[in-house]
This record gives sequence, C-alpha cells and structure tokens, in this order.
Amino acid sequence: MTISDRQITPDSVLTDRPHGLIIDGKTVPAASGKTFATLNPATGREIAQLAEGSSEDVDRAVAAARRAFEGPWSKWTPTQRQALLIRVAGLLADRFDEFAMIETLDMGAPLSRTKMLKEPIRQMIMFFAAQALNVKGETLQNSLPLNIQSMTIKAPVGVVAGIIPWNGPLISQWWVLGGVLATGCTAVMKPAEDASLSVLRMVDLLHEAGMPEGVVNVVTGYGAVTGEALARHPGVDRIAFTGSTVTGRRIIEASTVGMKKLQLELGGKSPDIVFADADMDKAVPGAAMGVFTNSGQVCYAGTRLFVQRSIQEEFVERLKQFTASVKVGNGLDPDVQLGPLISQKQLDRVMGYVESAPGEGARLAVGGERLGGDLAEGYFVKPTVFADVTNSMRIAQEEIFGPVISVIPFDEAEDALRMANDIDYGLGGAVWTRDVSTMYRMINGIRTGTLWVNCYGAVDPAVGFGGIKNSGYGVKGGAEHLDLYTYRKAVYINIG
Ligand code: NAD
Repeated sequence: MTISDRQITPDSVLTDRPHGLIIDGKTVPAASGKTFATLNPATGREIAQLAEGSSEDVDRAVAAARRAFEGPWSKWTPTQRQALLIRVAGLLADRFDEFAMIETLDMGAPLSRTKMLKEPIRQMIMFFAAQALNVKGETLQNSLPLNIQSMTIKAPVGVVAGIIPWNGPLISQWWVLGGVLATGCTAVMKPAEDASLSVLRMVDLLHEAGMPEGVVNVVTGYGAVTGEALARHPGVDRIAFTGSTVTGRRIIEASTVGMKKLQLELGGKSPDIVFADADMDKAVPGAAMGVFTNSGQVCYAGTRLFVQRSIQEEFVERLKQFTASVKVGNGLDPDVQLGPLISQKQLDRVMGYVESAPGEGARLAVGGERLGGDLAEGYFVKPTVFADVTNSMRIAQEEIFGPVISVIPFDEAEDALRMANDIDYGLGGAVWTRDVSTMYRMINGIRTGTLWVNCYGAVDPAVGFGGIKNSGYGVKGGAEHLDLYTYRKAVYINIG
C-alpha cells in the first residue's frame, strides 16, 4: 500500500472542497443560492450538496467560455495543448485513487472497477494528446479561371456544451474534454445531477495542470432546467451529448437555436448471439458480464442474449451458476464486483421490468429481487436472468439499464439475424462462434455501431465508438472525433 492509498478515505475525498459551480476558474455558488443533495447509492445517504444552476448561471458559464475561447487560449499552439494533456494524464495517474474513490461514492460502481479505469483513461488522454497535432486541412486543385489557389483549414468550433450521464462520468467526461483541449475549443460541462463530483474535481486538476481559467466551466443542476438552458443557449456552438434517447430528442430540438452541431450518444438494446458451436467457457462469463458490468448501467450492454435453441438449457444453467457467483455489495469492499443502481428512481424502473416480465411469459431463471439486510438502504438488485423470452416482449425491446439478461432462443442463423435487427437501437452487439462463415455473416448482417466477436465490451479511443438508429450519431474517438470539434473553412487566395 502506498502513502497516497492510505490517505484516501471517503471522508477525505468528500470534505476536501466546496461543491459550487466552476465558472472562469472560480468555485462559485448558484446565482439563486440554491443547492441540492447528491446521495451515495450504496447507502441512500447524502454525501454532498451541489449548486443548483439556473439559466442565469448557464449565461455566466457560457460567457466565461466565450471569453476564454477568444482570449489567450486561442494563442496556444497545438504543441502547448498537447503538453497540457500529457501533464493532466500524469497528474491524474498520480491521484487516481482519489478519483476512483469519488466515483465509487458518487455513483456506486465498486472500487474494483473504478480503480481499473486508471489505464484506459490515461490512454484516452494520450490519444487526444496525439490528436492535438493531427488536425489537418488540405491544399486542393481547382478549375477556376483566375490564378487562385485553394485550401481548407480546420478551425476550432468554439464553445462546446458537454452534457453527460451518471453511469460513468469519470471516463465519459474525457470524450468531451479530450476533443475540447486537443482542438482549442472551450467547454461548459453539465454533469448528471446524480453524479457530478468527479467532473468538478477533474476541472480542479485541469487548472492545476495549467489550463487557463474559463476554458472548462461546470454547471451542476437538473437536466430539465440547467441542461435545457445550456442546450438552448445561443452562445453554444456545439453539443456533445451522452444520455437517453428521450433526452437526445429534446437536445435535437434545442440545437435548432443557433443551428448547433451535434454529437448524440444515446441508449441501446444490443444483441449478443451465441451459436451452438461457441466456446461455452468463454461465452457464458463474457455474455453475462456484457450485461452485468456496472450493474447493467452500460449503454452497449448485450441485454438481448440470443442463444441457439439446442444449447439453451445448458447455457442458462451455466449462466445461473455464474450469476450466483457474482459478488454484489457496497463498492468500498474490495471484493465486490457489482455495486448498486444509481438511484431509487432507477431501482423502481428496473424492478418494474423484472416484475412485469413473467406476466408476458418470460421464465425467471435467477435473481429478480432487491437485496436486503445490510444493503437494504442502498439501491441493490440481484443480477437477473430471464429465459424463454421472445424478441417482442417489453424486456427485450426497451432499455432497462439494470443487471437483467433476456435469453431469447433461436433456431437458424437467419432467425438470429432477423431478430437482432428487429429493434429501434443500433449501438453494440456480439457474436460467439468458432465458424468463420457464421462470423462473417453476422458481421455483415447486424446493423450496429460496434460489433464484438468472441468477446464483449472492448472499446479503444483510437477505434472509436458510436451508434446508428435511435442510438444516435457521431463518433467518440477514432480519426473522426476531432471533426466534430472543428469546422472546415475553405480559403481561396489570388496569387496574382
Ligand atoms: P438522461 O438523458 O436522463 O441524462 C443525461 C444528461 O442529460 C444528464 O446530465 C441530465 O441532467 C441531462 N438532461 C436531462 N434532461 C435534459 C434536457 N431536457 N436538456 C438537456 N439536458 C438534459 O440519461 P441518464 O439517465 O443520465 O443516462 C442513462 C442513459 O444514457 C441510457 O439511456 C444510456 O444508454 C445512455 N448512455 C449512452 C452512452 C453512449 O455512448 N451511447 C453512454 C452512456 C450512457
């Protein structure tokens, strides 16, 4: 155990700082003076009061971001911005235990998971550091009669609104911050009301690393007020939104004010297809954790688990055994694998689906209950598997966002393909098989933004991640990411 490990306790990370808005580099109260409580979902107890931002606060934050965009930050070279990102990556790695603890207390994911994010986040920041030097325009031939040369320049788009959800803000804020800092944009971040602490703390760290004041601002508050005011604000040039499909539609409407560019990473109901020839020793835990990870609160969770009928009984039996072995509890316990759901509201939603499924004909194989005893005050649900589900049932069509697997039997590959695509979402998906032609048939046939073969959930910033259909548009990561933070300016020069 290192010295810094010993110093990190729930009390030390929560009492370190006041939790106001961050505007122009200063921590300030909301203009109204109002605050609201944020709870630890493992205990249901308040852990902090956050400033409740209003449209007045959003105005202040957007104005600060605009001033910073036009101020000295605009003179920073790509190499300077790259160096800032590299400094942040180092500082964050040094302090990571503190951030992991904050995330665990704030949104419930166990320390065993939040601590493991250290390397993926470091890699993500380093990816954006590399991208800072990779923004390029073109010199283009033209057929104009005059002696005119033409080229394009990629220029930073301006003020970005980063609106993110609660299911993993420690990592998901970097999909916005990375693009902003690599290109020379500025940002107003609006974290989810249920989990804002890691975003507030991260902006402190950015300042410590030398980021100028006003480059990244944070407005905490409720989605329908603070989020809506930010999305509608005419001073915002683009919106990077990750969240539900319902809110995504509202964001599209709001974006018409000022014709803002949009990136929408929305919900999912991903297919995971297991063929009879799959390696069961890998497919069972892979498919199970493809749903249970983060207590099922993952947008690309493979919740529609299509299993070839000839192996359904054996597969479900092994899934039951695996599920029963998963340790659920307060994430401060280092052995815990799954924490609580984020809130009472989410618990009620998940239990609503679990309780209605048998009425539609689904067979409960394991789980299906809230956890009691020491965990009764938190929002814990046992990992749950339903068998004999059909693709038209509500649990197979609607995003539950909890640890609930629907096993849907299929006979032929074409049946699996038809059902996999019979959904309004297109975010993730997987196929488990040892047959190369089956694999290619599925790769070509499944309509989704990301597809895994004989694994589930691997995501790399250099490859990128995005959805189709109701799962949104735009890509996080990959070569295209920075296109969303820049605009293309065509230039014609008369060289005489
Ligand atoms: P949500 O849509 O309720 O909230 C997301 C964010 O939007 C929060 O900060 C919230 O305060 C804000 N918001 C809410 N209403 C708003 C409004 N009218 N205008 C502006 N902002 C508003 O989503 P959630 O429940 O926090 O997160 C879960 C959802 O996020 C799931 O559907 C999940 O699939 C999705 N998600 C998608 C991805 C992806 O990459 N595709 C990743 C993570 C989560």
